[in-house]
Amino acid sequence: MSLRFVIIPVTSYQQNCSLLICEETNKAAIVDPGGDIDTILAVIKEEKVIPEIILVTHGHLDHVGGVSELAKKLSLPIEGPQQEDIFWLDAFPSQIQTFGFPHCNSFTPTRWLNDGDTVKVGEQTLEVIHCPGHTPGHVIFFHPQSKLAVVGDVLFNGSIGRTDFPKGNFDTLISSIKEKLWPLGKDIKFIPGHGPMSTFGQEMKSNPYVSI
Ligand SMILES: [Zn+2]
Repeated sequence: MSLRFVIIPVTSYQQNCSLLICEETNKAAIVDPGGDIDTILAVIKEEKVIPEIILVTHGHLDHVGGVSELAKKLSLPIEGPQQEDIFWLDAFPSQIQTFGFPHCNSFTPTRWLNDGDTVKVGEQTLEVIHCPGHTPGHVIFFHPQSKLAVVGDVLFNGSIGRTDFPKGNFDTLISSIKEKLWPLGKDIKFIPGHGPMSTFGQEMKSNPYVSI
């Protein structure tokens, strides 16, 4: 018994919201509910899981646009991102304009996360790793037993996150990937913020930005 997952692409950005489900308790974490709340709720019903917590990788609207509404509707705590992303959460009105989003409310996380923290989903424990570069407060979630990482916009299949946003930094992002993700192992599969899954080993081999 371990952790299973369901990927739900949401918003016009096809952001990968994911459900991380503890197979023993059927409790689920909703990671990065960027919007399309009705779609997310439909999947929760279909999978017959019990939503327990909302986890947030970083403050960009396509990842957090639905957090406030979903947290209220389901009475869920919100954990993440790391506090340096607070300026993105404070900038909801301008983000709505930039991203061309429907109106949504900002939120204050129940708990800001830091490197080395852990979060619980049912009986499963996820490790929190701070991976700045795309945004300064970006975190990823890692479940060692199932060799699965949810990495938001740090790393994609064949690419990496943008670093041209305020407080983005290309060198910092490359260091985050090489120094914090690669040591987790080649066999780690990951859910990126957008697009298809891959493994760290595959990206080490062929990703033009971070291959070694
Ligand atoms: Zn982003």
